[in-house]
Amino acid sequence: MQETRADIAIIGGGIIGASALFFLAKKGLKPLLLEAKSIAHGASGKAGGILTPFAPSETPEIKELLGKSLQIHDNLAKEFDGENQYAYEKYRALTIATTLDEVNQLRETRLNSESQWLKNEEILQEKGWINKETYGGICFTNYQLDPEAFTKKLVAESLKMGARLELGRVINLLKNKDRIEGLETKSGIIRTEKVIFTMGPWTMNLEKWLGIKIPVIPLKGEILRMQIPNTPAGGFSDIQGNYVLTRPNGIVFAGTTEDYAGFDTHPTQNGKDRILKSLSRYTDHLKDGAIVDHTACLRPLSADGLPFIDQIPNINGAYIATGHGRKGIALGPATGESISELVTTGRSTSLDNFRLDRPIKTIKPKHPANVHELQQDA
Ligand SMILES: Cc1cc2nc3c(=O)[nH]c(=O)nc-3n(C[C@H](O)[C@H](O)[C@H](O)COP(=O)(O)OP(=O)(O)OC[C@H]3O[C@@H](n4cnc5c(N)ncnc54)[C@H](O)[C@@H]3O)c2cc1C
Repeated sequence: MQETRADIAIIGGGIIGASALFFLAKKGLKPLLLEAKSIAHGASGKAGGILTPFAPSETPEIKELLGKSLQIHDNLAKEFDGENQYAYEKYRALTIATTLDEVNQLRETRLNSESQWLKNEEILQEKGWINKETYGGICFTNYQLDPEAFTKKLVAESLKMGARLELGRVINLLKNKDRIEGLETKSGIIRTEKVIFTMGPWTMNLEKWLGIKIPVIPLKGEILRMQIPNTPAGGFSDIQGNYVLTRPNGIVFAGTTEDYAGFDTHPTQNGKDRILKSLSRYTDHLKDGAIVDHTACLRPLSADGLPFIDQIPNINGAYIATGHGRKGIALGPATGESISELVTTGRSTSLDNFRLDRPIKTIKPKHPANVHELQQDA
């Protein structure tokens, strides 16, 4: 069996692993990324790519990390010609209210100096995506990108700086009492004293490898890609997280569902019907559209909706960054920067909200306390 060495290994080549790789490589290290299938083959390659500050179920704890991440996104887009390399684009977004309660909720919690409240009549006058009655909404500047292209770009730039990539599933960890000593793939052993786990919903393998239960489970989401005549620009969403977004290439993303379906990633007729039905309450445009693709993928959802970005207690050299739910693309860069700081210096600013030992205040609906039955390899 082949045996090699790495200073630091990262397991999982989604947006979080790619971001960690990039920031470690930027610090002059030579990290090794291990990915079971292909870069961004999970949710990171199929997500909407919206970098919204107005995500559903947003919690105050996430604001600082999100603000930092959006700033890094903007800097990276300038450094790497994001507009041409991964369709990074500024667009006009609208979050609509569909009840009076939602009007109050949106105005109180989300209206700020950079956004504007539009009444129903004003929204209709714009002749954009919305052509049905709403209770008004908040209009703001937002950003989007192609998440697969972005994740691949981060990996490509890391490789240029000396990072390494190996395709193949990690099947076991090597540990000596409380210390990481390496890991095992089908092709051999990799000796290393530091491992960052960025395996998204497959993080539950840590129970098998380290005897630790991390409360993160897969939350399935389906999304439609459509071609529509006279496509309106920009996009809109409601508070529940249904949305429409026109890409720079004219393809319309319409989503999305939330289902607890284990590791199933089959798109369903029922999912498609639910997406189109939810959105038809606000717009007629989709009914003339042709569906060109329909995918499903798995968000890594933590029990309280906040990510875990931390050193794993009592196991020297083990780190984790996962559980970003619906916001992993937006939060990826700041997560990568923070975890790389933690690994190299032993501390990182503002990660208290994302510690493994935090009290879980609110359990997400249906998040099962026992997730054994969901266990599956990537
Ligand atoms: C329909 C949908 C739309 C979304 N839209 C948005 C959006 O608009 N904006 C936003 O910010 N977020 C969005 N998200 C959320 C976002 O996609 C996720 O939060 C993010 O992709 C999670 O990234 P990750 O790197 O943690 O996990 P993943 O992308 O799942 O990556 C984990 C990787 O680990 C690998 N892996 C697992 N086990 C092993 C192993 N043993 N050995 C080697 N490799 C392994 C897997 O193969 C996988 O590639 C959306 C999600 C869905 C489902």
